[in-house]
Amino acid sequence: MSYESTMLEQLAMPTRKQVEQVLLRALLKHGGVIKEFGSGQEIVDEIADDFGLNEHQRSAFLQTVYRKENRVKKALLWHRLLFRAADCLAKEKLVSRPTQTIQLTKKKEWMLTEKGFDEALKLSNIPAARKDFLPIKSYEVQKIVKKLSESPRPENYNPFDREKKVNRVTRESAIRTRGFRQAVIEAYSCKCSVCGMIINSPDSLSWEVEAAHIVPHSSMGRDDIWNGLALCHLHHWAFDVGWFTLLDDYTINVSSQVYSLPSDFGKLGDYEFIRVLSRKSTRIHLPGKSEIHPHHNAVRWHRQNIFHK
Ligand SMILES: [Zn+2]
Repeated sequence: MSYESTMLEQLAMPTRKQVEQVLLRALLKHGGVIKEFGSGQEIVDEIADDFGLNEHQRSAFLQTVYRKENRVKKALLWHRLLFRAADCLAKEKLVSRPTQTIQLTKKKEWMLTEKGFDEALKLSNIPAARKDFLPIKSYEVQKIVKKLSESPRPENYNPFDREKKVNRVTRESAIRTRGFRQAVIEAYSCKCSVCGMIINSPDSLSWEVEAAHIVPHSSMGRDDIWNGLALCHLHHWAFDVGWFTLLDDYTINVSSQVYSLPSDFGKLGDYEFIRVLSRKSTRIHLPGKSEIHPHHNAVRWHRQNIFHK
């Protein structure tokens, strides 16, 4: 038995398999990513707490003698065990390694893959159907987010995807849809671009805000950041049915039919979610980077085809 295995056994440390499972659940809890394991990192203590490790188990060192250099290298046994578990997850393609992830997000983190995401959901007893609405990062989805947020803005943008299969969901299209949602919601800092509403679920796993298509999915609208807007449920609905649209300078334009609505319609207490927009010309909240603002070709199409004057 190796020196490391003997130490693990003597200290009654958890098995690597147990650590792998807890790591997958922790990844889910932390939005799909966790930092490399180092001293002083919360995640290292969080997982140790999960196992109820004592001080002795947390602080045991492995000492390796380097004969050539005539020196002793010390490593925390607990960090080593975490690393070995993460390394096994990477070999099974359940996570991406920090050296791979950094190329996508510029951060040295372990990140779930789609396969790892499915496994983590199973371990956490979360129904697979919730997957599409959880803003958990996965390596495959993050690739799409990077592409959507960093592609050069086309001068003459075509907001239609003629190849789009509107009624058929494939694994590929589901990943693209999640990439679209995540790119849009992140670009707008999880806030409704109209009213600024921001709130997440009590388990912090999902956001209320939605990624709306400007040219709708049903009209073959592309899953691009230039065809997207972050909107709360109410404003998403109102935008989709044509209660309001955007002008070229991103000012909100409300349908004149709002004036013939019964006075008790569209009210939440004192808050009137459509009328309030018609009272003054309001510009939507936009991301800082103008390259990812909605494209005029998409906005104009909405104005001409969805909006009710
Ligand atoms: Zn809103």
